[in-house]
Amino acid sequence: MVHPVFDNLPTTIFERMSGLARQHGAINLGQGFPDDQGPLPVREAAARALIEGSNQYPPMRGLPELRAAVAGHYGRTQDLQLDPDTEIVITSGATEALAAAFTALISPGDEVVLFQPLYDAYLPLVRRAGGAPKLVRLAPPDWRFTREMLEAVFSDKTRMVVLNSPLNPAGVVTPDADLALLAEFCVRHDTIAVCDEVWEAVVFDGRRHRPLITVPGMRERTVKIGSAGKLFGMTGWKVGFLMAAPALAKALAAAHQFLTFTTPPNLQAGVAWGLENHRAWFDEMPVELQRSRDRLTAGLRAAGYVVLESQGTYFLNVDLTASGLALDDVTFCERCVVEFGVAAIPVSAFFAQDAVRNVVRLCFAKKDETLDAAVERLARARVALAAP
Ligand code: PMP
Ligand code: GLN
Repeated sequence: MVHPVFDNLPTTIFERMSGLARQHGAINLGQGFPDDQGPLPVREAAARALIEGSNQYPPMRGLPELRAAVAGHYGRTQDLQLDPDTEIVITSGATEALAAAFTALISPGDEVVLFQPLYDAYLPLVRRAGGAPKLVRLAPPDWRFTREMLEAVFSDKTRMVVLNSPLNPAGVVTPDADLALLAEFCVRHDTIAVCDEVWEAVVFDGRRHRPLITVPGMRERTVKIGSAGKLFGMTGWKVGFLMAAPALAKALAAAHQFLTFTTPPNLQAGVAWGLENHRAWFDEMPVELQRSRDRLTAGLRAAGYVVLESQGTYFLNVDLTASGLALDDVTFCERCVVEFGVAAIPVSAFFAQDAVRNVVRLCFAKKDETLDAAVERLARARVALAAP
């Protein structure tokens, strides 16, 4: 009765851990969302649009003013020239953009290369589109792929590769050399790259996000996906962007028109206003988050945790084994939320097979007091749960 892909599929780990956090009154460093409600001027722009603007269907590909603002933003920040009329489709979040890309571009039996750890939406959506997943396993501490790993999964049946950089949950950014390597395989095997770049604005230590679409050979074969929810730290704002050469964008729009057709006009107007008028945010936001990353890192290290390097995203990871904890990540997270009052995400949830089971993800996009209180509790957890 139920499609086999969705039959018995559990509720996402994010929803589950947030539920446990509420139930146990825990500090929620699990699901990735900031404490802060997001930039007020951008919210005010959306509020004005809600009261004074149209609340009827906007154009299917998105408000022209938003598509122009998206093109302007990526021109300024990533040296990417996009035609707002033919190369940008506004979606209801990156989630819908992913669904549109998989629906429009995968035919039954097509092979799709994916990297584990993978964002939990990918696999069910790829499978539902009829794709045959080919998984590459990345491992800590650097979570990088090699030529040998790509040789093992790419073939002439490879229709698509899905790349998430900066990578949730690992918090690493794909180095330029690895982008060039992946591009070489995409060109050789005539493969489309779907690039989930929702974390592109959240990179630290002076890094700059380099999109795969700007690597030679990739302009015509890449679908770049962005998320206003992540750009402005308002994760409930489900406004996403699909960006691709005109022929690909046309196919993506064809799928989008029957998934949601369009996205609330007031939020689109707010995002357009923010991209045009609230530009300082893109310099200030990562600096503030980097400070939070450093605060949580220092606190955890002082409590005896081994923290892996976070180059971007809202997340850092701790290595349980190296921290003297013999529990697996799921057990640690369950005990942590119930007994010690901190919710975290077990990284094994991002694996379909052969999981890394000793890494736990923590969200640092929180107020100092929240991070400090969480550190205190996590310090107690480490002492209590440490192997004798
Ligand atoms: N991809 C990744 C890697 C994410 O981390 C998220 C959300 N955190 C999404 C996609 C979904 O983005 P949106 O909320 O815009 O649908
Ligand atoms: N992407 C967010 C995270 O990684 C969660 C999104 C969701 O809850 N579906 O925490």
